[in-house]
Amino acid sequence: MNRKSEAPPRNVSELHLEQREIGRIVGRSAGPTLVVVVGIHGNEPAGIFAARRVFARLAEAEVPVRGELVVLAGNLGGLRLGTRYLVKDLNRQWSEARVAALLARSVEASHREDDAEDCEQRELLAAIEAARARARGRVHLADFHTTSAAGIPFVLFGDTLAQRQFVRAFPLPVIVGLEEQLDGALSEYWTRHGCVTFTCEGGQHTDPSAVDNLSAVLYLALEEAGLIAPGSLPELRAAHDLLLQRRGDLPPFLEVVSRHAISEEDAFRMEPGFKNLSPAAEGQLLAHDARGEIRAPKDGMVILPLYQGLGNDGFFWGRAISPARMRTAEVLRLLHIDRLLPLLPGVAKDPEHPSRFIVREVARYYPRDVFHAFGYRRVRTRGGQLTVERQPDATR
Ligand SMILES: [Zn+2]
Repeated sequence: MNRKSEAPPRNVSELHLEQREIGRIVGRSAGPTLVVVVGIHGNEPAGIFAARRVFARLAEAEVPVRGELVVLAGNLGGLRLGTRYLVKDLNRQWSEARVAALLARSVEASHREDDAEDCEQRELLAAIEAARARARGRVHLADFHTTSAAGIPFVLFGDTLAQRQFVRAFPLPVIVGLEEQLDGALSEYWTRHGCVTFTCEGGQHTDPSAVDNLSAVLYLALEEAGLIAPGSLPELRAAHDLLLQRRGDLPPFLEVVSRHAISEEDAFRMEPGFKNLSPAAEGQLLAHDARGEIRAPKDGMVILPLYQGLGNDGFFWGRAISPARMRTAEVLRLLHIDRLLPLLPGVAKDPEHPSRFIVREVARYYPRDVFHAFGYRRVRTRGGQLTVERQPDATR
């Protein structure tokens, strides 16, 4: 990057947040839209600084922009107070049912019943819908975060072909399968509604390098989405080099295989020394709980270990996906071989949801890979019955 890292603010008044819209560039010619949500967690302002830096640079360099770039503050009230949220996590409220319930409340009822995050969600939803209504091309949505612990920046995405293709623009570790573990995330909602989405964890909350990382991701997203011409700014090359250096020896594609869920009674304690993404060898000690030692089941990756704060996720267990396996899965999907899945014993189409399969007791032990290869992810497990669903693909 050609300018020095801006330090994040020491106190929140330095943010100067007057409105939800941090900035907008409307290109003279039609083209794609990129909506970036920053600070959906109010204690994560780095995305705001990154966006301001990129807006300033685009203006200074007079780079022609096609389509529209709009950056929106997520939890405006939380950002002003420097707190993650006031009542509830705004990045867990985007299930269809919750959004429908929010929209169904009458104006009078909403005044009585809306809590702080309900109000945020209403405004954010309206701002994103307005950007979609203005769109003159495909709509992309990026969600920028930072983490409490230091670590390597990474990208998460929902497993559709269009999104797989898009996240290849980022030379960071990209992780598939984490979003199926989290209910009600913003990006997943907009994937279901036809946007190409991804989420980026840019680094530690107050580390100036998180602003550098998120700026780099924003430059590359503008180029990949087609808002700016390839190579139209020297920052694009620098962004690529910076992120590649951040990734270091980590594999480019990772998938989450399982979640180590914990409750308070477990007295879970992670072993010290794991980063947010850390390779672990078979048998390696990962953590302790009330039942004893927790060791790595095979060679793989520890993802997002819990060291501070509260939560129900002790860590996620994952593994690298080879580029060959990524490609195989894509070819299978393009051939629509998933149409044959109902021929497997115990697998049936869900009569109420055409995009879902129900997997009955006998068939639950098919390796999940069979479904993952086709982009189907767990929806729920109930009464010995697993339901898997695939996100609609924006390419079709
Ligand atoms: Zn966050």
